[in-house]
Parts: sequence; structure tokens; C-alpha cells
Amino acid sequence: MDMGIKGKTAIVTAASKGIGFAIANRLYSEGAKLAICSRSGENISAAARKISDKGDILALPCDVTDYSSIKDFVSRVRSELGPISILVNNAGGPPAGYFEDFDDEAWLRAFELNFLSAVRAIREVLPDMKANHWGRIVNMTSVSVKQPIDNLILSNSIRLALIGMAKTLSNQLAPLGITINNIATGLTKTQRIENLAMRKSTETGIPIDDVLKNMVSDVPMKRFARPVEIADAVLFLVSEIASYITGITLQVDGGYVKFVL
Ligand code: NAD
Repeated sequence: MDMGIKGKTAIVTAASKGIGFAIANRLYSEGAKLAICSRSGENISAAARKISDKGDILALPCDVTDYSSIKDFVSRVRSELGPISILVNNAGGPPAGYFEDFDDEAWLRAFELNFLSAVRAIREVLPDMKANHWGRIVNMTSVSVKQPIDNLILSNSIRLALIGMAKTLSNQLAPLGITINNIATGLTKTQRIENLAMRKSTETGIPIDDVLKNMVSDVPMKRFARPVEIADAVLFLVSEIASYITGITLQVDGGYVKFVL
């Protein structure tokens, strides 16, 4: 099926590994002109080479918590690949912990990483989308926006602000042919999850396979998502065929979220 994104310039932030990498790979395979970033120039170039050995992916260092870095990245993308049609806002996750664990500085860092990063990237790409009367924005969040996770108070809180911003903005952008949606990502087998499981196993003496099994015990499918399963949902939302979908937060979670509507 033609997803209608061939030749369109697409940005995926925080794409050197994990879910961001899988999304970048998927958009490239559907023919998007791809630009990716992460903090390390070396890592993001290596990621681009893994996706394609043709040197046709623009891979640049950019720290999404730094506005000038985002501005430089977007303007390089525009000048080298043309006006931006697709933006996927991904970033690292904030640290785990409870209310007492975080001072103002920690809250502000999470705000910059998981809220302002997206606001700033959207601000930089919107002029292109408005001029073309076509645009797709997808914000990568977490199931924690639908069902708070006990030890993730920063994620539970800051990501909800992003959902509120996106829903509000979606109404404003809807008449312009620009959609904005969010993915509520469920437990996904990435390096981050493997590291977390390894740490827990070392701390508790529980074998790593059992730690991983416990992690997915609340997931009806009893397994992690593969990153490509998250990427496929993103591909759908940025595609032409999702043209009447805006302002939603799509769970991709193996049934983890318990509510009905
Ligand atoms: P990951 O650690 O495997 O990958 C994170 C990527 O973000 C890497 O490429 C890293 O270099 C990049 N990155 C981190 N901080 C950055 C910054 N300041 N600027 C630019 N790039 C930066 O993580 P993942 O598992 O792929 O998760 C991606 C996002 O999805 C995170 O926000 C995570 O909290 C969220 N999430 C993950 C899961 C899961 O189960 N894996 C579930 C729900 C939500």
C-alpha cells in the first residue's frame, strides 16, 4: 500500500537507537527523505548507516533540550532536504522516582526534555507545513499519560502537558491540512528496557528472564512490543491515509491500559 509519504521530508528526533531508530527506519523504507538526530554525532551517523549505506540520510547531532541546537538542525534539514512535511518528536525519558525524589531543577529538566523539546521543534517546522497545506506531527509519549505508573511521576505529569498542548494545537491546525497526534507507547523491548532489567536483576538477584517476565505480567499480550510495532503505528499516523485523524493519543500497548474508552 502506498502510504503517500514518498519524497516528503521527515524528521525523527532522538533516533540513534530504540523506538526513534525503528521509526526512522520505517519512514525511510516508505520513501521519505529522512533527517535524524541525537546528541552524539558519531552515534547518529552510525544509525543512519545501519538504515542505508547510500549516504542519503541526513544525520546530525542535536540535543533536543537545547533550543539553538533544534533551530540549527531544522534549518540544515530545510536547506539540504527541502521543506519539512513530517515531524516525529521523540526524546529520552525522564528519570524514574517518586515525588520526594525531585527538586525544581529535576522538574525543569523533564519539562525541557519531554515538553519544550516538542514545542520548539513544532514551532520551527510549522511555517513549512503551513506553506504546503500539508503536515504530520507525531509526539512520542507513554502509556503513563493514560494510566499513571507509580514510580514515574515526572513522565506521568510532563507528558500530559504535551497531550494538552497537542490537542489544543490540533484544533488550530486542522483547517490547514496539518494533523498532530500522539503515541502512548507501551512496554517496548529496547536497550533502555534491557538496561533497567539488568540493573534490577543485579540488585535483587532475580534472574534477568524473570525480571523481564514480571515487567510484562500486567500486559494482556504478556510480551514487550517490538520497536517496529510502535514504528508501524507512527507510519500510519504520518501517512496520507490517516488524513482525518487529528488530536488523538493512540495506545500501542498490547492491551496494557485498563480503561474502555
Ligand atoms: P532509548 O534509551 O533506547 O533511546 C532514546 C534515544 O533518545 C536515543 O537515541 C538517545 O540518544 C536519544 N536522546 C536521549 N536524550 C536526548 C536528547 N536530549 N537529545 C537528543 N536525543 C536524545 O529509549 P526508548 O526505549 O527508545 O524510548 C524512547 C522514548 O519513549 C523515551 O522517552 C521513553 O521514556 C519512552 N517510552 C519508552 C518505553 C519503552 O518501554 N521502551 C515505554 C514508554 C515510553
